[in-house]
Amino acid sequence: IQQQQNNKTSGWAMSLNQSSSNQCTAHNLGFPRIGADRELKKAQEAYWSGKISRSELLAEGARLRALHWQQQKQQGVDLIPVGDFAWYDQVLNTSLMLGAVPERFQDNGVSLKEQAEDIDTLFRIARGRAPTGNPAAASEMTKWFDTNYHYIVPELNKEQSFALSCRSIIEEAKEALAQGHTIKPVLIGPLTWLWLAKIRGEDFERLELLESLVEVYGEVLSELAALGVEWVQIDEPILVLELPSRWLNAFETVYNQLQSAPVKILLATYFDDLNGHTAVAASLPIAGLHIDLIRAPDQLTTVVDKLSPNAVLSVGVVNGRNIWRTDISTVVDQLKPVAERLGERLWIAPSCSLLHVPVDLNSEQALDDELTSWLAFAVQKCREVSVIARTLGGQATPEDKALQAEADSALASRERSSRVHNPAVEQRVAGMTGDMDHRHGAYPERAARQREKLHLPLLPTTTIGSFPQTGEIRKARRQFKKGELSEQSYQQAMEAEICDAVKRQEQIGLDVLVHGEAERNDMVEYFGEQLDGFAFTNYGWVQSYGSRCVKPPIIYGDISRPEPMTVNWSRFAQQQTKLPMKGMLTGPVTILCWSFPRDDVDRKESCLQLALALRDEVTDLEQAGIGIIQIDEPAIREGLPLKQRNWPAYLNWATKCFRISASGVKDETQIHTHMCYSEFNDIIEYIASMDADVITIETSRSDMELLDAFEQFEYPNEIGPGVYDIHSPNVPDKAWIKQLILKAAEKVPVERLWMNPDCGLKTRDWPEVEAALGNMVAVARELREEF
Ligand code: GLN
Ligand code: ZN
Repeated sequence: IQQQQNNKTSGWAMSLNQSSSNQCTAHNLGFPRIGADRELKKAQEAYWSGKISRSELLAEGARLRALHWQQQKQQGVDLIPVGDFAWYDQVLNTSLMLGAVPERFQDNGVSLKEQAEDIDTLFRIARGRAPTGNPAAASEMTKWFDTNYHYIVPELNKEQSFALSCRSIIEEAKEALAQGHTIKPVLIGPLTWLWLAKIRGEDFERLELLESLVEVYGEVLSELAALGVEWVQIDEPILVLELPSRWLNAFETVYNQLQSAPVKILLATYFDDLNGHTAVAASLPIAGLHIDLIRAPDQLTTVVDKLSPNAVLSVGVVNGRNIWRTDISTVVDQLKPVAERLGERLWIAPSCSLLHVPVDLNSEQALDDELTSWLAFAVQKCREVSVIARTLGGQATPEDKALQAEADSALASRERSSRVHNPAVEQRVAGMTGDMDHRHGAYPERAARQREKLHLPLLPTTTIGSFPQTGEIRKARRQFKKGELSEQSYQQAMEAEICDAVKRQEQIGLDVLVHGEAERNDMVEYFGEQLDGFAFTNYGWVQSYGSRCVKPPIIYGDISRPEPMTVNWSRFAQQQTKLPMKGMLTGPVTILCWSFPRDDVDRKESCLQLALALRDEVTDLEQAGIGIIQIDEPAIREGLPLKQRNWPAYLNWATKCFRISASGVKDETQIHTHMCYSEFNDIIEYIASMDADVITIETSRSDMELLDAFEQFEYPNEIGPGVYDIHSPNVPDKAWIKQLILKAAEKVPVERLWMNPDCGLKTRDWPEVEAALGNMVAVARELREEF
């Protein structure tokens, strides 16, 4: 085994004792596929709606691949990643490569191989269509590690078998080679793929599938080698998780098996440190190992020490998860001793695939020159990688030196900038007092006060915040942003929407009303635009899933609230009704999680600043006569670190930030929070520590199962379990709602239950909403008689 390994890497071994004038390879782990102007999204959607043909779609994909390879090459990347392209998702690509097509998407008349090659199969799996065209449950989608990218969860069953089916990776490798590129195909590793899969039907030990799975990988590697490919990158990010020992042991089995393939394997890990798994990773029979030095800089020394003598070490030193410009000089200084030690065996790369950053800063027009000079998107990051590699190899060109100097001065200006540092904000955070993170009275006292003040009936009914964002609302906002509609007319239009929403809610008979969020485009952007310390791009698109892209705001400095953000709207709404009007805010953790954070301070620091800004908003709302205020925190769970042992530290500051935002008010003011698509089992004590008077959660699709955690914990405060799935246009009937809330009442005392939909209603239309909420209110009224 060792013999073979040595042969494969002998070219690298020779350079062991040579020093700094060695060439240092610049490579990339993956490039965004969507296109700088979301061309891929546009083509996909045009294809789905029948506006372009399949061959037009395929041609657009090929054009984008060629462009992106060319761009990377132009920036000086030596080894271009191939196989990072996907029509929908790279995990789904891997499933199709393996022939793992769930049965409900299979067409019995056609061979599995043919189906797996067909992009329509891929779209059907992702979008939920049987080959007949009838609806079939789409494969589940979930977040890729701690990113905001969603992958299609592979499905396995006990009889699962694998065979090389979709050959797109091989075809794309040929395509890139034909275009004259030196490439490094990228695959999601067999263990990571298997770990992320979900078992359908009878449970079994999925590691039993490994052997036949690895065979397919072996075949793919051989075919790639036959094309003349030297290196293949295999991504195994699960190596940074806390793995059960049988999974860890499986790494050895798998990579022992794969080492007979006639290619060199670069095993890529990212998003955290290898930590306890360094020894295992370093001793695998692979030709190279990639580690993430952005998330986990401290692992460098240990990994270098443990690395087998011939192996390449690829260091991820350019942030693949954020948009900040790299401090080239510092990176070069830190890597110099390593470069001396490893010579050509040191490779330079971004920390992870650049899938998670926008494509090209040169497209951007919304940012001023100074801010732009602090940033780097995917194209610029490729350049940074190659400059670092050449500089370390003693081959920096005059342009490289100029870029390094430019980075030095941009970063110096950022460090000093008064746009970044606001002493008043920093002092306020530093001077926070111990009583700011809890309410004045304990929950029972507050509940009594609130009952006295609010006089709500048993099973109070409410909604989560947004009402249908009609075409008219969006059009008005578009016109206002373009300057075609005056501020006054826009305000009047939104106020008319509020009046309409209030009237409809009164007619429906809801107990606690909302203003409807007509004035908000997005629950984070709306606040970010009004806070200091945030910037917004117009081309900062990042793929979220399939054709969906998001444009996260950039937190670049200390955060403060120059003036109230929602108070006028809420006050206006309250003036339209005698019923309680609930104020509506996005919480500090969610705003943080859905933005690009700063890299010069901890996430926690920005979160505290957000918490203080929101705290001022909450007390201003109270003063404006708003007696119930909801602070949405749907993203609390998303912010969890990858390793469970790091959860408590995060959850402590995250929940503390929520409490800081919520605790400036009197006991009689009722604070709500809302969370959707979350599981609570393993974090229920922290959810409880948020001490919201009322929490509304998404439960209808889990048949109230999510309430079990609250029941077992004896969660003391009030809960509004969703009784109505807002993702579907179906109007739930009374019997359905009733059985759900009765189920809830078995788990939580009915005196502490509210009735509400799962989430906001902005994607629905009014007729559905009125019918569904009407049924909900009718059930509440019936039950008030019965209980
Ligand atoms: N208040 C927001 C709304 O109703 C909450 C959205 C969310 O939880 N994702 O739209
Ligand atoms: Zn929600």
